Amino acid sequence: MSHKDLEFTSRLVHSGQDRDPFTGASSVPIYQASTFAQPDPDHPGAYDYSRSGNPTREALEKSIAELEGGTHGFAFASGMAAISAAFFMLKAGDHVIAPEDVYGGTYRILTSLLKQWGLATTFVDMTYPERIDQAVLPNTRAIFVETPSNPLLKITDLDAVVAIARRHDLLTIIDNTFPTPFLQRPIAHGFDIVLHSATKFIGGHSDVIAGLGVTRTAELGRRMKAVQNSVGSILGPQDSWITLRGLRTLAVRMEAQQRTAQTVAEALITWPQVVKVHYPGLKDHPSRTLHERQSSGPGAVLSFELKDAPAALRTLAGVKLCFPGVSLGGVESILSYPARMSHAAMPPEERHARGITPGLLRLSTGLEDPRDILNDLKQALG
Ligand SMILES: *Cc1c(COP(=O)(O)O)cnc(C)c1O
Repeated sequence: MSHKDLEFTSRLVHSGQDRDPFTGASSVPIYQASTFAQPDPDHPGAYDYSRSGNPTREALEKSIAELEGGTHGFAFASGMAAISAAFFMLKAGDHVIAPEDVYGGTYRILTSLLKQWGLATTFVDMTYPERIDQAVLPNTRAIFVETPSNPLLKITDLDAVVAIARRHDLLTIIDNTFPTPFLQRPIAHGFDIVLHSATKFIGGHSDVIAGLGVTRTAELGRRMKAVQNSVGSILGPQDSWITLRGLRTLAVRMEAQQRTAQTVAEALITWPQVVKVHYPGLKDHPSRTLHERQSSGPGAVLSFELKDAPAALRTLAGVKLCFPGVSLGGVESILSYPARMSHAAMPPEERHARGITPGLLRLSTGLEDPRDILNDLKQALG
């Protein structure tokens, strides 16, 4: 049966992982091999060397390509390796436009290594598409998007970005880590490259670091393959297998975690200690309608502001159920302090200007009962 006939949740379970053709095994074997026999070098088989291709990794790569609706998928050693691979498709002298509240690691590589190698970046508030248009220079080659953004859950209009990009002949690249293809499929809007930190919701269990990339066209697929093979930042077979296993349960986890995020966000706005809650599922979120147009749900990450840094740090130290640390998208609720964790790489004045205040906490809701999460936060807030 062609997977094209299946609904999305069925494809999550079955894509890229039909039973093993040799043994009938129900899960893709972990091909823990670096090299493949080539008795006739002029007629190599499907695989020659695992950096260039490995059957376990390929199962994951096919799966994510199919789920995002792209031509080619790629599995990388981390989300940052996937993001770097997309930038490596550009060259010295090129210019990219990125969101001002972009993921801290992406900010770091753009403003340090890639800058050193001659890639220039302009950061703009992408909730205003006209600012993207105004930032286009003669050497601009790509627009990099993250929506909902991290940690303020700002929304960027996917169709508006694609329209600007087409007018100026630019590549469109998106970090789709927060929504995952279960909630948002940017290639359907015309995006060229979709990236993921599969460490988060796709892996889903806080037990693997992995990255994924998907291209809209075969030509872009060829270019990303060349980067992956040249740089060698591939995902190993064991981690490919565990990431595939996470992918199979993405729909049920995301649905439950998102429901909990909505309950928690609605409760937090009524608490006197909470100054503001950022979550696209809330009625007063400034871009709620836009988000609902391009995504099938608000996701399972929210952030909230307490009055100052001591209040935020006290809460972080006081939680007993929520996991205090970096990362998100696990089965356990994870509470982070963006100013000193995900966005520590950003200078304080930049951070502040971008709305990442000293009292801001980010919560990724897990699979616990929302009542327990709220009780935990309540006792930690004191
Ligand atoms: C975590 C994260 C990354 C980086 O991914 P790693 O797997 O940690 O390298 C990139 N973008 C977003 C939105 C993330 O949350």
